[in-house]
Amino acid sequence: MSGAALSAASSPEPDRNCPLCPRLHDFIAAWRQREPGWFNAPVPTFLPPVGEDSVRLLIVGLAPGLRGANRTGRPFTGDYAGDLLYRTLIAQGLARGEFKARPDDGLALVGTAITNAVRCVPPENKPVGAEIATCRTFLMPTIARFANLRAILTLGSIAHQSTVRALGGRVATLPFRHGGRQQAGGITLFSSYHCSRYNTNTGVLTEEMFVAVFKEIAVFLKS
Ligand code: SF4
Repeated sequence: MSGAALSAASSPEPDRNCPLCPRLHDFIAAWRQREPGWFNAPVPTFLPPVGEDSVRLLIVGLAPGLRGANRTGRPFTGDYAGDLLYRTLIAQGLARGEFKARPDDGLALVGTAITNAVRCVPPENKPVGAEIATCRTFLMPTIARFANLRAILTLGSIAHQSTVRALGGRVATLPFRHGGRQQAGGITLFSSYHCSRYNTNTGVLTEEMFVAVFKEIAVFLKS
């Protein structure tokens, strides 16, 4: 990685034209041609309106969906995964307002921020290992920016593994498990299956299973 790239990666938010993953950069460039009205860029972390010092829970997803966050520019907004996630966040007091699957719906996070392990949309929702590792240079300062962070919830094994590495832990000793609760880098790390339509349609993740994880987190944050 060049000096310029290292300098760019010290920020928690990538440049709109981040070139570090050529395959993803080219994929987005093609979609900018095809759908010029879409966001089509690295999707920034969704923050609560009162600022980052209020954040005690960070949720880490995999990557923007093509017609979801890549289209709208807000994590988990515009495709199915957000319906379950934001409904659950509102029910647990971690968001307020109404989720209408648009960035201007007025939904506000409460003590919570949402980001992705990989900020650019990958073809077929599948980032490769090098892209996950490269984008960790943004995940690490994203975690570090929250001075009062107590917990991270990872959605799916890829987000979990990248977060464990970002926290300086070893994946072999902190494996992904739905409903898992572990300690890494001074943070309590919760993990859940990803709230994708595929996982809910196939019964890998039920709404009850997802809500149970958030109930445990809500109790933890009040402790
Ligand atoms: S995935 Fe991350 S590191 Fe790769 S190009 Fe996008 S923003 Fe840059």
